[in-house]
Amino acid sequence: MATESVRPAPVPASAERSAGPSRELGSKVGSTEARQASWRGLLWLWSWSRLKSVQCCKRSLIGATADLMLSSFGSARWQGLRSCGSVSACPVCARKVWAARSMKLEAALVAWQKQGGSVALVTLTMRHSSEQSLTDLWAALSGAWKATEHSRGVRAVRKALGVVGFVRRIEATHGSNGWHLHIHALAFIEGAAADQDAARLGDSLHASWSAHLQGRGMQAPLRSVGTDVKLLDLSDPGAAVAGYITMRSTPEGMGARELTDALGGKYGKRGNRTTWELLSDAVGGDLKARGLWWEWEEASRGKRMLTWGRKVSALLDLEDEEEADDLEATIIARLGMDAWQAVCRRPDGPSDLLEIAERAYRSQSCRGDDLEQNHVLGLEAAMLDVALTLEDWNVMPIPDLQQEDQAVIGFLSITVSRGSTVSAVESGKSDVQGPAARPQPGAADRSKGPPLGTSVRAHPHRKRAG
Ligand SMILES: [Zn+2]
Repeated sequence: MATESVRPAPVPASAERSAGPSRELGSKVGSTEARQASWRGLLWLWSWSRLKSVQCCKRSLIGATADLMLSSFGSARWQGLRSCGSVSACPVCARKVWAARSMKLEAALVAWQKQGGSVALVTLTMRHSSEQSLTDLWAALSGAWKATEHSRGVRAVRKALGVVGFVRRIEATHGSNGWHLHIHALAFIEGAAADQDAARLGDSLHASWSAHLQGRGMQAPLRSVGTDVKLLDLSDPGAAVAGYITMRSTPEGMGARELTDALGGKYGKRGNRTTWELLSDAVGGDLKARGLWWEWEEASRGKRMLTWGRKVSALLDLEDEEEADDLEATIIARLGMDAWQAVCRRPDGPSDLLEIAERAYRSQSCRGDDLEQNHVLGLEAAMLDVALTLEDWNVMPIPDLQQEDQAVIGFLSITVSRGSTVSAVESGKSDVQGPAARPQPGAADRSKGPPLGTSVRAHPHRKRAG
């Protein structure tokens, strides 16, 4: 087991000075940018985070290798790295968790709609000033929500309307008035609810919310702007989820922000910055943003950013959100600790390799009608491009696979020679992804894990992500 960890990548000198990280222009906003920004954020946090878990995230290996995996849909990821699992303070872990949560929420909305139910989006805000600390605001918010959810008035309205429970998300932004903390909750309502039902729920929630905040010495929020309840259109559950877990509220927003900055936009001047935007600015050298990020790290530590009401979970009988990661995938490249360190010392090294693998796969996997063959050609192209890139970077992957370690992928057997050059040899077999293609326990050196090209299932180390 490797205990050694990677030293932080040096922050480019320009990043300390410039207002935003430099990056190539011309690419579209999307998950590629978000992934790059997330990894850049994490590599920066190795040096700058005040949370030990985040400083160590993805720096050491669970076993002997870090494996670059490509799923059967052609999406790449790293496997075999120790992760912090923080949803609030680690951009790489948060991205993964929010993606899984979005899928789970979408499944929940579909299931609820099938049962004939309605869902209302509830927003509860607090009035605040720049003098109030995030920790104090958080304590007030948590206490007021707990009290509101179970207050007599709200309980009565919930019963009358058939509100079985809430999914609740906490969001924080920072602006000229300091920290702005608010709650977005989905209320699961039995049967078809009308607008006046939403208004009634809003009135009761506001009355209790406002009273409890005042009881904690806070100013009363205004009903007109402070509390909002509206019914969601469940005909498009994906859009409803996207409206609930917005791109900006997850690390996905970092990619969009970097691009806007690079194009000369004044993203930050538009108003409040989300915590991910603060991180993005901190990476770019904004010292105030760095201080605010530290405050966020401290205040959000151990807090749950999304909670599911027990009744909602039980009613919908949904799979664990971590299941989403449990996909069949193929090992494209395998790095030992030294090689992983070398990759992480390169600016954007980890995310660049993922991008290279995906791009190569895409270039080859849509050429003909034979899907299986396309997949094999895509994998082969990804292995080749990644191997050549590593060679270019002077990074030596684990090269000397034994004959018995050669993996059968479709009808091609792909091996990597000592010079990191990939060759494809026809083997005539096609038992792809069957048990035979998987490593047999004890068949090979266990310290090396399954061989390159092997199709394996992810082994998520389940942890409760807050
Ligand atoms: Zn992490």
